[in-house]
Amino acid sequence: MDVLKKIGIMGGTFDPIHYGHLVTAEAAYYEYGLDRIYFIPSGQPPHKKGRHVTSAEDRLLMTHLATAANPHFYTSDLEIKRQGYTYTVDTIRQLHQMMPETEIYFITGADAFSEILTWKDPVTLLNSCDMVAATRPGYTRSRVIDQVEEIMGNNADRLHFLEVPALAISSSDIRQRVHDKKPIRYLLPESVENYIYKHQLYR
Ligand code: NAP
Repeated sequence: MDVLKKIGIMGGTFDPIHYGHLVTAEAAYYEYGLDRIYFIPSGQPPHKKGRHVTSAEDRLLMTHLATAANPHFYTSDLEIKRQGYTYTVDTIRQLHQMMPETEIYFITGADAFSEILTWKDPVTLLNSCDMVAATRPGYTRSRVIDQVEEIMGNNADRLHFLEVPALAISSSDIRQRVHDKKPIRYLLPESVENYIYKHQLYR
């Protein structure tokens, strides 16, 4: 196989994955001319200590189901296999070691991105890849972004904002809807919907 020039890494808890995530990844694929998108569900998210998160196995399987039909979407268990809390800076470092000639675009939600200065080793992370913050409708740029751009210095043009109207869909809303016995059809792939009901998630 040829060396991949540019890949997108979709980072998220994916609890559950939905069409907002899939539309974001597809938009980034076209916008930045990426060769592939790897969805990497977070293992043990350090920022969710004490909060219930669906098992890594269920989140990984739902992500596999959701991405299977798209030829340039892949799902990776890189973070889920790692022991202890998982940090994005370690994931990007590991990917650079595995694919030294490949440029990496880390894609996540703008709300998650606005917390980046509290993540592990943010300066190293911000200078190790392109960053794509996917915005929901009505997003207003937070002050953190000015600080982020300052840290990135000459690399500030590697920070991208991608508006994704489909991100009006959210995982937390889907979990609440299942809990309230409201329909979730058309918010996420049917295979993921069936998985949620079969395994009685979010009751
Ligand atoms: P989160 O706090 O659960 O999500 C914040 C917001 O961003 C939510 O509205 C979420 O919507 C949205 N979002 C999350 N991932 C998205 C994606 N890939 N595309 C579009 N929207 C997305 O964030 P999270 O999902 O746990 O974490 C996001 C990424 O940041 C993960 O890769 C995580 O590992 C990384 N992270 C790293 C550190 C660290 O290294 N210390 C700390 C925090 C987060 P939905 O709920 O609908 O997804």
